[in-house]
Amino acid sequence: MFNSLSDRLAATFKNLKGKGRLSEADIDATAREIRRALLDADVAVPVVREFIGHIKERALGEEVSQALNPGQQVVKIVNEELVAILGGETRRLNLAKNPPTVIMLVGLQGAGKTTLAGKLSKHLKEQGHTPMLVAADLQRPNAVKQLQVNGERAGVPVYAPHPGVSSEFEDPTGDPVQVARNGVAEAKAKYNDIVIVDTAGRLGMDAELMQQAANIRAAVQPDEVLFVLDAMIGQDAVATAQAFNEGVGFTGVVLSKLDGDARGGAALSVRSVTGKPVMFASTGENLADFEVFHPDRMASRILDMGDVMSLIEQAERNWDRADAEKMAQKFVDQEDFTLDDFLDQMQQIKKMGSMKKLLMMMPGAQGMRQQLEQFDERQIDRIEAIIRSMTPHERVAPKIINGSRRARIARGAGVQVSEINGLLERFGQAQKMMKKMAAGGGMPGMPGMPG
Ligand code: GDP
Repeated sequence: MFNSLSDRLAATFKNLKGKGRLSEADIDATAREIRRALLDADVAVPVVREFIGHIKERALGEEVSQALNPGQQVVKIVNEELVAILGGETRRLNLAKNPPTVIMLVGLQGAGKTTLAGKLSKHLKEQGHTPMLVAADLQRPNAVKQLQVNGERAGVPVYAPHPGVSSEFEDPTGDPVQVARNGVAEAKAKYNDIVIVDTAGRLGMDAELMQQAANIRAAVQPDEVLFVLDAMIGQDAVATAQAFNEGVGFTGVVLSKLDGDARGGAALSVRSVTGKPVMFASTGENLADFEVFHPDRMASRILDMGDVMSLIEQAERNWDRADAEKMAQKFVDQEDFTLDDFLDQMQQIKKMGSMKKLLMMMPGAQGMRQQLEQFDERQIDRIEAIIRSMTPHERVAPKIINGSRRARIARGAGVQVSEINGLLERFGQAQKMMKKMAAGGGMPGMPGMPG
């Protein structure tokens, strides 16, 4: 996502580096390059026009001509304008004064609504809410079942027409309006403070689908209607968003599949075209692949200034405090760092989601994208397999792992002996580093990371 846009903007800014003054021709040329980069990223034409208009106006005005470093000043302007078209402030959910807050999800079939329902409910649960999911998508075979699976993973209750007998509800004659209404009533009765209603989508836009969504909206009077937009559909995104805005109306947008190789046009256009803010982003198939959408942080990522805030939050959210404290205590007690601890750390890292995705949030990551692309997520799985093939004694006393033990472990884990050697070597370094840190009273980090 945004990769080629990031590269193009970086190349444009590079041309400005070291210039003491920018002439009008410099600014024109820069604006032209930015314009082309945005169009190639599938940003809607009127949005590009307005964006470039602002950039030129500001760059030609006082701001840049008096700047000590005009190149940096242009980057600053582009950053601010990106934040503006992405919506400016972070838009939070509107919570009802009288719970439950009702959130309805709309969008085309395959947009990612059901997946999002699970992610959003998990997120809200982590914030201390008691969400309930309602399965009002009776159109798509399996949608009810899929929502139940997601709810179970998120640890959130799911209201379905007849809980547990989902196959009956693949019958399209069921009434989704009634299901939605009953679901909200159920949440009220059970004191769930937020209800998320998943609705049906079709492959294309059609009047019947819009009418059904509009009927559900009228029946349950949601506090938020979130339009889930697949960022991968490129230029069709804008038309789809407009159609839903007119047909059903929505209060916010969720961009899904931002992890894909879409060029980013949808993300940059949807706010300006519909006037509705992007509130969340979905970035993968797992429940943890979910972010609150912060326009300023997204702009930073596009300009390769990194998104350290999101990185820290992601780590905090998924890092198990109890485990971390247990680990810290080991240091205080000067206990040895074992391969079991190493395994624990690997599992913590896995919980945070994709390592590659985390690394991509680092400042300058865009510039190292090629190396990062090569990061093999499966390496963590291989390390796990290796440690699991060791005996408990070997895990606490790796020194005893001689040649024949190495061969046995390699067979058990289905890897080459050289990988065992590599792991033990890295582990040895990690152990040393941990000893040093313990002596210095520092906190444990993530030593011995592969790659
Ligand atoms: P719905 O028809 O709108 O309910 O869409 P689903 O939630 O069933 O999603 C459709 C497909 O897209 C499923 O295969 C999901 O696993 C996948 N999907 C959903 N969100 C994302 C995402 O953010 N990234 C990726 N890569 N896949 C996603």
